Amino acid sequence: ISGKELVPKIPRYMRVNLIKSSVESAIQQLQAEEWQFVGMFRQEEFSTKALALSQWQFGLDPMLPDVLVFPPHTDLHDHRLTRSGVLVQQDRASCIPAHVLNPRPGSTVLDSCAAPGNKTSHLASLLKDHGRVIALDRDFKRLGTMTRLLSKSGATCVELIHQDFLTVEPSSADAEDVQFILVDPSCSGSGMLNYQSNDTSSDVNPSRIQTLKRFQISILKHALRFPNVQRVVYSTCSVHQQENEEVAEEVMSQVTEKFQFTKIFSSWEGSRGLEHFPHSEFFLRLSPVQDLTQGFFVACFDRIERGITQAA
Ligand code: SAM
Repeated sequence: ISGKELVPKIPRYMRVNLIKSSVESAIQQLQAEEWQFVGMFRQEEFSTKALALSQWQFGLDPMLPDVLVFPPHTDLHDHRLTRSGVLVQQDRASCIPAHVLNPRPGSTVLDSCAAPGNKTSHLASLLKDHGRVIALDRDFKRLGTMTRLLSKSGATCVELIHQDFLTVEPSSADAEDVQFILVDPSCSGSGMLNYQSNDTSSDVNPSRIQTLKRFQISILKHALRFPNVQRVVYSTCSVHQQENEEVAEEVMSQVTEKFQFTKIFSSWEGSRGLEHFPHSEFFLRLSPVQDLTQGFFVACFDRIERGITQAA
């Protein structure tokens, strides 16, 4: 099956906002209606079982414990759990970076390219609103959308700042507190499902991809300059190696004395990075066919001196 054929069959993913409820309670409330919970999918049968969901059935993601999986086109946007901010529609891939960053409640997290805020609100949810999330974006209009999304989530631990991340001085007092950084920068978007339903291969503008790559490298290198950061997670919704493996490998080659890659989700049975890269097995590269998500890439940098050896 090609990605194009799969697009109409991709499940609908709903994340449970842990600030407002728990996964158990959300499941129970859905069961009290007409929904049938089929349980947590096993990793090895995720695709088969998720694709076989019939109407009014839903399950739990095997890797992401706060993500519920519904049949494609399920429309819950008017459901009371969505309106009250308990359920948030978010692609499976987009829910991965916050889990990989895995900040402990109480810690200080910086989301460097935050708007429109899906991953910021996920981080606040995983912190159960205890700690501090500093969320930056240089686009004022996109921050407006983000304010609305965050107010619905009930998060109070997020500070929204209109600023270019590259202008944040790593030695400033606020920056010294930062332990976890998410780098989810602008990218070609070539992994997004509406792109995949067309032919993307003819759509690549090499000079644009090179410009994006240089920008992504500069943002990621800046994040690794923060003096007390323990973990930096890099993600894109691009399928191009120039924006993914090449960025991660080039940046790592400049920081090997201080940082190492951590293998993300060691039991993950979906795709890893492209094989001809030296650290391919440390990365995640998601695809519609294998993972029932948009095309997506994730890499995790951990500081060696204070190394956390295992990603979430
Ligand atoms: N993380 C977001 C989410 O999950 O909702 C999506 C982020 S989007 C892929 C990239 C964002 O990076 C855009 O909103 C863009 O305005 C912002 N951005 C690009 N360059 C930036 C910079 N130098 N500093 C801060 N934000 C930047």
